[in-house]
Amino acid sequence: MIYLDNAATTRTAPEVVEVMLPYFSEYYGNAGSIYGLGSQSKKAVIKARETIAGTLGAQANEIYFTSGGTESDNWALKAVYEFCQDKGRHIITSKIEHHAVLHTCKYLEQRGAKITYLDVDEDGLIDPQQLERAIRPDTILISVMYANNEIGTIEPIGRIGEIASEHGILFHTDAVQAYGHLPIEVGKMHIDLLSASAHKFNGPKGIGFLYVNSKLRMGSLIHGGQQERGRRAGTENVPGIVGIAAAAQRAALSMDKKAVEESRMRDYLIRRMEEEIPGARLTGHRTMRLPGHVSFCFEGIQGESALIMLDMQGICASSGSACTTGHPGPSHVLMAAGVPEELARGSLRFTLSEENTMEELDIVVESLAEIVEKLRFMR
Ligand SMILES: *Cc1c(COP(=O)(O)O)cnc(C)c1O
Repeated sequence: MIYLDNAATTRTAPEVVEVMLPYFSEYYGNAGSIYGLGSQSKKAVIKARETIAGTLGAQANEIYFTSGGTESDNWALKAVYEFCQDKGRHIITSKIEHHAVLHTCKYLEQRGAKITYLDVDEDGLIDPQQLERAIRPDTILISVMYANNEIGTIEPIGRIGEIASEHGILFHTDAVQAYGHLPIEVGKMHIDLLSASAHKFNGPKGIGFLYVNSKLRMGSLIHGGQQERGRRAGTENVPGIVGIAAAAQRAALSMDKKAVEESRMRDYLIRRMEEEIPGARLTGHRTMRLPGHVSFCFEGIQGESALIMLDMQGICASSGSACTTGHPGPSHVLMAAGVPEELARGSLRFTLSEENTMEELDIVVESLAEIVEKLRFMR
């Protein structure tokens, strides 16, 4: 099998699993209990929070564990909207956000929110000047993703944060694709809220976090006990929390080396596809893109058909995003980037990890070249 769908999810690193294991059957105490077994869990949670905070230049009390990226995005948007109603109801986001943000925005619109969806250029980049022009006296939040899951483009987050801060507006970023892969400093980048998810950086599924600037007093999304300082109730997922911290630490330590290796493989794959497959069009920005991210549209084919044929050869890839599969119609991201609808139907995404090899990439290019030719012939 050749796994090239790391933007959908990653393999939990064996060393991460190993650190988690004792917290299932050995140290299984409730972190809220006072006896020794419980305090062992509690200590692990405290340590994990410190580890995560350390990777962002944040304080431990600014990290809230959640069930993943979707929950973090929902919480950030809904809580800010609820909390800032005195100031206004206007939120600025982009047309290329993940559905966890876009569908939450739609929900908030039904409850009176006014949302501006920023355009992107053909590379998928937001224009900071357009953002600045969209700001109104009642703007309470800017939510722009750090890097796009479908086309890999890295947004000018530093500049966006500056603009938000100059205007006294809160800034949330969905950093689910970026965290663990790109360096992030919340202070320097003027980020007030940040979403991340463990299974996108070799941690377990079902655990993520929301960073919330301690200056912000924000309401809770899930009501109940006093866990997560009363803001996200429910018995802590201790193995998951230990796992996300182990994965975060592992990612931080190997980030630079991995980025170099992955971008070398990425650029090789891009070059070979452009050379070997006629009618291959790269989507997203050529250089300002996630290290392991390759995305293309192939003229005259359906992405889904190619995926099935790749799967028969043991190659796992994706068409746009896992969340759009099963959705009819072309991806909202490609539409926003101005890709013609016909071409957008032939979109394929290959997302690498440090475990991939050049040999695998050669196999993928050869297989795909044949598949594309076959599909075009069959039309
Ligand atoms: C995967 C992803 C999410 C959702 O994260 P989950 O942990 O799967 O809920 C949100 N935003 C982006 C950009 C993603 O890639």
